[in-house]
Amino acid sequence: MDKTNFHTHSLYCDGKAPLEAFVRTALNHHFSVLGFSSHAPVPFSNGFAVAEDQLPVYCREVRALQEKYAEQIQIFLGLEADYIPGVTRSFSALRESCGLDYIIGSVHLVVNPDKKGLWFIDGPRVSTYDNGLKMLFDNDIRAAVGAYYAQIQQMIRAGEFEIIGHLDKIVMHNKHRFFSTDAPWYFTLMTETLEQIKQQNLIVEVNPRGRYKGRCSNLFPEEKWLPVLREMKIPVMLNSDAHHPDDLIKEYDYSLAAIRAAGFSHLHIYDGADFIEQEIS
Ligand SMILES: [Zn+2]
Ligand SMILES: [Zn+2]
Repeated sequence: MDKTNFHTHSLYCDGKAPLEAFVRTALNHHFSVLGFSSHAPVPFSNGFAVAEDQLPVYCREVRALQEKYAEQIQIFLGLEADYIPGVTRSFSALRESCGLDYIIGSVHLVVNPDKKGLWFIDGPRVSTYDNGLKMLFDNDIRAAVGAYYAQIQQMIRAGEFEIIGHLDKIVMHNKHRFFSTDAPWYFTLMTETLEQIKQQNLIVEVNPRGRYKGRCSNLFPEEKWLPVLREMKIPVMLNSDAHHPDDLIKEYDYSLAAIRAAGFSHLHIYDGADFIEQEIS
């Protein structure tokens, strides 16, 4: 079975190596497809997204690599776009201006209902998560997690993208402290979200970044949801969310085994025209 990865970063955003270094490592590990998905620009100062004026440069370099390595590996141009209502531009505008092959829709910054600020649920530091929960949601974890999934559902209903990025990353810094993912209210939020994903024919990526960064022990989405996705016939793909070339292969075997154990016989991949099924072998 050919290895594929559609979720990779680079020096254009918060990745740690140039684009071509990812291509070389992907070739060494016999990947047949490599998709680049830098963080799309956001209209405020930050240290993680592509700068607005670098966006066309990024796109041109990916297309140049696509041509250069055409005989060896399929390369695609994507973006991981943040959905922040009232802040980020529409995904369709991004797609059109860049001529993207695909978009991963992700929520890293949660809008507070009173619009007091943004809760950063990602990143390396638990303290950022804890402080945001306190400052923006008065430590009301159900309100905070509810706002996270409400924002994801709004993104899903808006459509305009193909792949859901690290669906339940909200769990990463929780570390079993504020809520249990077995709680009925949490189950309801996830189930509602999955139903909307199904309705919009989206693909859920299985993303092991939390595991290989040592920030949590689970995949995104958590392993227990994979049989539910299978039951609902929601397609999955395996993306490592690589910020360094070495990340391309990290937890690959573990993730594939979890997907297979959930009963999936196929992964979804992009072939240059459509998203299609590839048999797991
Ligand atoms: Zn992300
Ligand atoms: Zn990412």
